[in-house]
Amino acid sequence: MMRNTTDIVLRDTYDLAVIGGGSGGYGAACAAARRGLSVLLVEPGPMLGGNSTLGGVNTWEPGIGGPGFHGQLFDLLSATPHAIGLSRTTKFYTSEQPWGFSSIMPPEAGLTYADSLRRAGVPHADWVRVTFDPDQLAGAMAEILNALGGVDVLLGWRFLGGSVANGRIESVDIAPVGPPTGSSERTRRVRARFFVDATAQIHVCRALGCPTRFGAESREQTGEPSAPDQPKETLNAVSVCFRLSPREHAAIDPLPPGVPDEPFVTVNNITQYPNGDLNINPLPIMEGMEFHRMGDEAGRAECVRRVHRLLRVMQTRWGFEKFGLARIFPFTGVREGPRLEARTMLTETEIRKGCSGQGDAGEWITLADHALDVHGQGGLCRELPEPYGVPWECLLPPSLSNLAVACRGAGVTHIAASSCRLSRTMMQMGHAAGLAAAVALDRKTQYPDVDRAALQKLLREDRVHLTPEAFPAPPKYSAG
Ligand SMILES: Cc1cc2nc3c(=O)[nH]c(=O)nc-3n(C[C@H](O)[C@H](O)[C@H](O)COP(=O)(O)OP(=O)(O)OC[C@H]3O[C@@H](n4cnc5c(N)ncnc54)[C@H](O)[C@@H]3O)c2cc1C
Repeated sequence: MMRNTTDIVLRDTYDLAVIGGGSGGYGAACAAARRGLSVLLVEPGPMLGGNSTLGGVNTWEPGIGGPGFHGQLFDLLSATPHAIGLSRTTKFYTSEQPWGFSSIMPPEAGLTYADSLRRAGVPHADWVRVTFDPDQLAGAMAEILNALGGVDVLLGWRFLGGSVANGRIESVDIAPVGPPTGSSERTRRVRARFFVDATAQIHVCRALGCPTRFGAESREQTGEPSAPDQPKETLNAVSVCFRLSPREHAAIDPLPPGVPDEPFVTVNNITQYPNGDLNINPLPIMEGMEFHRMGDEAGRAECVRRVHRLLRVMQTRWGFEKFGLARIFPFTGVREGPRLEARTMLTETEIRKGCSGQGDAGEWITLADHALDVHGQGGLCRELPEPYGVPWECLLPPSLSNLAVACRGAGVTHIAASSCRLSRTMMQMGHAAGLAAAVALDRKTQYPDVDRAALQKLLREDRVHLTPEAFPAPPKYSAG
């Protein structure tokens, strides 16, 4: 059940503790609870969903996989008016109007959820996105977890640290979000048999000494064709998403105090909400390393100033004067941070080989087919000819046998991360980590020794397809 900070009676030991309640954490908690495990989910935010809800990234890009748990969320939300829809891009970027626009498609268009589950090889104009209301998605996630039972969800709590013995995490310490009081009175120690780090910034791994990577690896280190000659401190750009609502009369929103009246222009993804509002995702609003160096607070404040300057450009030059600012989302959209040095690292080379060339299908826990897409600083953007598989060991640190990383900080290189970071892919990584805990408990083994065939069987039972043939390109795409 969902708990708040005043109602906290924890079990002595959980089967699985999931740290972080974004897409990856939701997938892990849901999968484990469905198999009867006792689960604790710890999330500092006031709702589930992480970047997809509090970050306002209200779109699932077209991409292979599932339908799994996201398909279930789609089905649940489809019963609520204005909660979710399928959209197509109806306007593409031009130099004078640097934005793309995705519109919700009416039922007559005949689109189904399955149409959104393919990207590689499909022409842009035929891509199908899923667009949802963030609050509704968070509500649906909570509803599903509550209905499953066996999951204690602590909102407004965060991971602080943990203890390790004999290569296993024994316990983690958690505390309510808020300014440190100097007292340990509100800190709780949580024991579990298995743990999932779904914090995006891999706080658990870093606190417990797992080796991590940051920035771009060199070509010599990874063998990737697009890697730089030398390792480079670079990160995918950040964005702050905001929501606009339609209004009767044209107007220009006032600039808040301290925001210079200077235009800020960037490329934007604009998606229509099911209720007609617009979601603006500025790509990028700030370079990743600039944000990292400024720090969360100062970086965020500057991003918000840029949002207001961008909105002014939209209203004065691009024809959006009949839309007013409804909300700037509270989480800054960070695409990349530290990444785990995992037992296996997913690289650009493996991604470009694709399923037909990778040769380790028995290891895959999800498929993906998003473009290699590093936003900002003239970053790489290359669509893929076919999907690829993500091996289970990309989630596993070499030194801890009961921890899996199911978030964008998993074991992928800087270049691979630019493809393998989408919300639905993260949800499926979490799905695998939750099921792997069930398999490991059943067979009395640890994460690295989990029977891969048993794990893949459970994933298939949960409607996660692991062969690209399960998603043949629809006939209308074949000729293109
Ligand atoms: C601007 C932007 C646009 C994007 N556009 C798209 C898109 O259109 N489509 C798409 O599919 N993907 C998109 N992505 C990628 C995708 O949204 C993210 O990569 C994905 O949602 C990340 O999921 P996650 O579970 O790894 O992390 P998150 O969703 O960030 O979840 C991590 C959670 O961990 C919690 N946490 C942090 N610290 C702690 C702590 N100490 N203790 C406990 N919990 C903690 C956070 O509060 C958060 O809820 C975009 C990303 C960005 C930034």
